[in-house]
Amino acid sequence: MSRKYIDCREFPSATHCSVAISADSAEELLEVAVQHAVSIHKHTDSPELRSALQGLIHDGMPPETVVPPGAISGVPQGVRPH
Ligand SMILES: [Zn+2]
Repeated sequence: MSRKYIDCREFPSATHCSVAISADSAEELLEVAVQHAVSIHKHTDSPELRSALQGLIHDGMPPETVVPPGAISGVPQGVRPH
């Protein structure tokens, strides 16, 4: 079973929150992420917030650093296309 995570560093926020949350199921993860967004980021629990958070769910584990969108160019080191 693969882990799923939401990395708050990808979520635009004024506080530059660096929290990453991981869980085994998307439902579990979404629930904790909603609680985090509401209590820490003062969001309102709504279908819009939940769908926004759903779009941030990734498979695997949170990386040590987040690559800003658009910074990815070419093939990662050590990976060669066949
Ligand atoms: Zn956060």
